[in-house]
Amino acid sequence: MSTARSLLPDWVRKPVSGLTQFVKQLPYAGEGRYCPICNKTSRKFRAYGINRREGAQCVFCGSLERHRFLWHFLTKKTDLFSDTPKRMLHVAPESCFEPAFREKLGDQYLTADLYNSRAMVKMDITNIEYPDESFDVIYCSHVLEHVLDDRLAMSEFLRVLKKDGWAILLVPIDKRPTYEDPSIVDPLERLKHFGKEDHVRIYGADYADRLREVGFHVEATTIADLIDESERTRLGLVTAGGVIHYCTRT
Ligand SMILES: [Zn+2]
Repeated sequence: MSTARSLLPDWVRKPVSGLTQFVKQLPYAGEGRYCPICNKTSRKFRAYGINRREGAQCVFCGSLERHRFLWHFLTKKTDLFSDTPKRMLHVAPESCFEPAFREKLGDQYLTADLYNSRAMVKMDITNIEYPDESFDVIYCSHVLEHVLDDRLAMSEFLRVLKKDGWAILLVPIDKRPTYEDPSIVDPLERLKHFGKEDHVRIYGADYADRLREVGFHVEATTIADLIDESERTRLGLVTAGGVIHYCTRT
């Protein structure tokens, strides 16, 4: 169906696609849940994931729990949207964030990825081709668990961050200490050991120590630290976990 649709001219395809979206969103119309990224309310968030999580995804922009938590954090705890323009590097850009960041930051917003052609520049985060202190803000989510030399990537982020800048480098975190074994290279073995075929480790609570080792000052914030219970319900974060590590140079 999607192949057939791609053969249609734009003036037919776009309205058809818009109508399909509308019909899919209709059962979610209502109040009670709020997505701060696309600024829309819904009756509920939809289920998402291989290990299906109820009430996880915004039906309008596709945001998940971690995205809505991050947006809340950015709004309440950072200067990203202040009047002073911030030069922001967004690695492996999530589509739910891009329009909102672009609208707020304009030409100060740069997206980068090693493989995704949608990003504005191609970037290997272990060898960032930008001068020292290029960015006020760096945001990179769920990438470091794919990178063999993650300490080198962290050092590169530190190098290109301005002295008074800050970075948020999100990774999935388990309760156990970080587990990695570079000798495991087979995708099925990686799936067995690290939970995904292209992951090279599972980070644990010591993740912040690794960030500190390369020179970051790190402040950790959980959902419960930042958001009260009724707001957690409204944002669809009641069963969500996760920690945001706010990293600065000093
Ligand atoms: Zn949304």
